[in-house]
Amino acid sequence: MARIAFIGLGNMGGPMAANLVKAGHEVTGFDLAATVLQAAEATGVVPASHISQAVSGAEIVVTMLPQGKHVLTAWPDILASVASGTLVIDCSTIDVDSARKAHELARTAGCLSLDAPVSGGTGGATAGTLTFMAGGSDEAFEKARPVLEAMGKKIIHCGEAGAGQAAKICNNMILGISMIGVCEAFALGEKLGLSHQALFDVASTSSGQCWSVSTYCPVPGPVPASPANNDYKPGFAAALMLKDLRLSQEAALSTGASTPLGAEAAQLYALFEKQGNGGRDFSAIIEMLRGRSI
Ligand code: NAD
Repeated sequence: MARIAFIGLGNMGGPMAANLVKAGHEVTGFDLAATVLQAAEATGVVPASHISQAVSGAEIVVTMLPQGKHVLTAWPDILASVASGTLVIDCSTIDVDSARKAHELARTAGCLSLDAPVSGGTGGATAGTLTFMAGGSDEAFEKARPVLEAMGKKIIHCGEAGAGQAAKICNNMILGISMIGVCEAFALGEKLGLSHQALFDVASTSSGQCWSVSTYCPVPGPVPASPANNDYKPGFAAALMLKDLRLSQEAALSTGASTPLGAEAAQLYALFEKQGNGGRDFSAIIEMLRGRSI
């Protein structure tokens, strides 16, 4: 069992750290928010009063922070306080450029590093069923694997530094675009007098089949567990979808990739958030699309 430091114990980091404790690891944690740190203590995480205290003596450090700027603020403090050879894993969803900068900081400090963003939301974090998309060296990945397995059920090595973040934003760009497409189809079906169930029965078994239809159907009824049946409580909040779509567009801009539907999806989710819907599930965008004139 390893001595692990966990930095950022919020909605995702809290339950992830708790699963590391459950797996028998010795986990020390730090978060800027005192209430969050107290909640983590209740799950068996040893609270530290600052980052350097949390990471001192750790073999592995995990960060789960909001954005790239937070990671690039925390990592220099971490790297200044750990022994060379320590593995630092960032599980936050951040831009690819910041992820690569973080890897470079680790390399300069003689440490191993991995970007390992996750999919599966707070439910997956609590259940220990997250999917990890990892970028970094084979050595870093093999050292991280047993620790990631305590928090997730699928661990994919996507390539070198930044490849995990690249996979995450490409996947979520597909999701944002496909959800809007599915919502448009259901809204059009309503205008044509087609029942939700009939369209679901066809689309979920035909060429329109995708996760947004079959698992996360944006209208109540056909998939009882989807947030549409629960007043669009997240699930996956529209604000987080917007964040990921914006990251995809930053990456498209910096690489010269053409992603016109990704750009349109980002604009629609920005409008949806502006209308006060950032905290609702991202599939609730069907309500805005129903009312949108073309
Ligand atoms: P959160 O805001 O609940 O938690 C982030 C925590 O980081 C906060 O408690 C904050 O106090 C702490 N923090 C910020 N700066 C810090 C610092 N310098 N040192 C110590 N602690 C610091 O956010 P979350 O929902 O847990 O998301 C974390 C990351 O996971 C984000 O990048 C998000 O995009 C990604 N993610 C979230 C979900 C989800 O469903 N919530 C799903 C997949 C990925």
